[in-house]
Amino acid sequence: MTGFFTQVFVPGPFSGPLTYSASTPIEPGCRVRVPLGHRSVVGLVAGPGELSDHHEPIKPIEACLDETPLVDPGSLALAAFAARYYFAAPGDLVLGGLPKPLREGKPTPKAVSLEGHGQRSQFSRTQAQGDAIDTISGALGQFRPILLQGVTGSGKTQVFIDAIHAAIATGQQTLLLIPEIGLTGRLAERIAEQLSGRYQVMHSGRTPLERARAFIAAQQGEIDLLIGTRSCLLTPLPRLGLILVDEEHDGSYSARDLAVMRAKQANCPIVLASATPSLESWVQANQGRYQRLRLPSRASGIEAPTLRLIDARADRPKDGLTQAALHAIEHTLQRQEQALVFLNRRGYAPVLYCGECGWSPTCRHCDAKPSVHQHPRTLWCHHCDTRQALPPHCPNCGHPELLRLGEGTERLADQLSQHFSETPVIRVDRDSTVRKRAFEALLAPVLAGEPCILVGTQMLAKGHDFDRLTTVIVADADQGLLGTDFRSLEHFSQLLTQVAGRAGRRDVRGQVLIQTHRPESPWFPLLLGQDYDALARAMLTERQQMGWPPTTHLAVLRARGPDPNATLAALAPIASSLKGQDVQVLGPAPAPMERRNRQYHAQCVVVGERGALHRALRATGPWLYRRAGKVLIQLDVDPWDLW
Ligand code: ADP
Ligand code: ZN
Ligand code: ZN
Repeated sequence: MTGFFTQVFVPGPFSGPLTYSASTPIEPGCRVRVPLGHRSVVGLVAGPGELSDHHEPIKPIEACLDETPLVDPGSLALAAFAARYYFAAPGDLVLGGLPKPLREGKPTPKAVSLEGHGQRSQFSRTQAQGDAIDTISGALGQFRPILLQGVTGSGKTQVFIDAIHAAIATGQQTLLLIPEIGLTGRLAERIAEQLSGRYQVMHSGRTPLERARAFIAAQQGEIDLLIGTRSCLLTPLPRLGLILVDEEHDGSYSARDLAVMRAKQANCPIVLASATPSLESWVQANQGRYQRLRLPSRASGIEAPTLRLIDARADRPKDGLTQAALHAIEHTLQRQEQALVFLNRRGYAPVLYCGECGWSPTCRHCDAKPSVHQHPRTLWCHHCDTRQALPPHCPNCGHPELLRLGEGTERLADQLSQHFSETPVIRVDRDSTVRKRAFEALLAPVLAGEPCILVGTQMLAKGHDFDRLTTVIVADADQGLLGTDFRSLEHFSQLLTQVAGRAGRRDVRGQVLIQTHRPESPWFPLLLGQDYDALARAMLTERQQMGWPPTTHLAVLRARGPDPNATLAALAPIASSLKGQDVQVLGPAPAPMERRNRQYHAQCVVVGERGALHRALRATGPWLYRRAGKVLIQLDVDPWDLW
């Protein structure tokens, strides 16, 4: 065995890097091939190691794969910090930040960057935009978290573009984080049109090789701007000077916190932008920890859309649509404008049902009803993706006809095609956009401005800028209002604001019609008021009363295994280890959907003040990421939901 002990991050459930030996010192951030158990894996050098606490014989590194580091010390440190805070395996985090070919040990590809077109927009800026741009540019070179709270259509993209140019002018790189949905291409296009500089885009629509080339371009400082989904958070950017987070309320709490952490480390400003900020960020701004910038009105000067409820008890929907909604669509089309019908449920109908004997199918692997899909004709479980044939008659009583109850986007689209037979009906959801590029192709007539009807799920709700779209129908508001999770209302109000924001962005004021069976809900005046601060205040009061975040902090211990009792029992000792600490322990109890994807799920919710919570959770370490019998236990700190 030769000379230099080296610590290496390897994939797998290890709480830190493992020690190997090398014949020469290797710089931190270089990839190496090392033996692990009976395999050989690609790891990343963390730094020099010490022999002290090692009992097993130290194995030599098999090969060093990089001459110069692929990942900078800052990114390594951030991953290590994140691993400690989230009780995650640091090796998985560090290696997970690499595009697949690099993670697999392939040689670094040639850097490839794209060139912006540099066509500055002809609008040059509203007062609010100008102020926001000045503040962000003025903050370059120092750590400052900024909440950019701008109503939909207020021109946040333009603020981004000018801020990016300010960073470029001082020789700095910008990281723009966007949600993982179909629109990433459009936003990137809009920015690329105006950008004077080089950029790259990383999202799931790009091939692994494209991502690897983009990664190298970022890492070598070749590009001025990296646009990517939250998975790009740890991509090395040697001249990082600005972080922008678009739709900051979207996506996990942890990604947002880590982005702030990265800005702190890089000593640069971070802009969290949204029309409907997460309550967490909204509170930070109230308390002065984030600087709040507002874009209070639409850049085009067009007034915000009108919002109106349709009482679905009086005007009973036929196949999901009320008369009032159909009339509104008809008038919209007559004016040569476009309408959007929003329903966050794909498929044809959520329930298949025998009117004769009451039979209804359940998924083989979940406590859930599979949805009826028309294209292709199947029963499809949206929780585990299992598909089965649609029975031709009731398997229980033999009745020849089965009812399809409720509606999904397929059914709405069918109905609308029949009702408005002359008009193109364009359905946009996960099923209609599976093929790469399908999203852009589907939207072509919409972008061309032809009168048409869009039907879709939340894929349609965000970020799009359709000039001729003036009417939005929210087909089922009850779905959002009745959600069971403590964040349901927040998510619904965010979605409603986003989807309403698609209406009337350019020349004509838009209208939004909301179908509901409970128009008397006390939340509607706040939702219709289009005053997010008032709504956020009310939601915060409720959270305070219930003891939920952001007034407290949460962690969930999740267990899953093939046997319900064993799964529940596996959490018991961990729960007891937390008792007597300065936290509240709820459970263990079966998860809201206990049987999911062939496994039984149980959970234990831990509530407390952030510091106390974290101290208490350290006691859970020995149980995590190991199988106790056949039960796997995981810890989710700052969870997105309690499922
Ligand atoms: P947001 O991201 O805030 O929803 P966008 O950046 O998409 O808003 O801008 C909304 C629309 O307003 C776009 O069509 C954009 O071209 C236009 N716009 C942006 N800034 C201005 C401005 N200063 N004057 C007029 N129109 C503008
Ligand atoms: Zn039957
Ligand atoms: Zn299922």
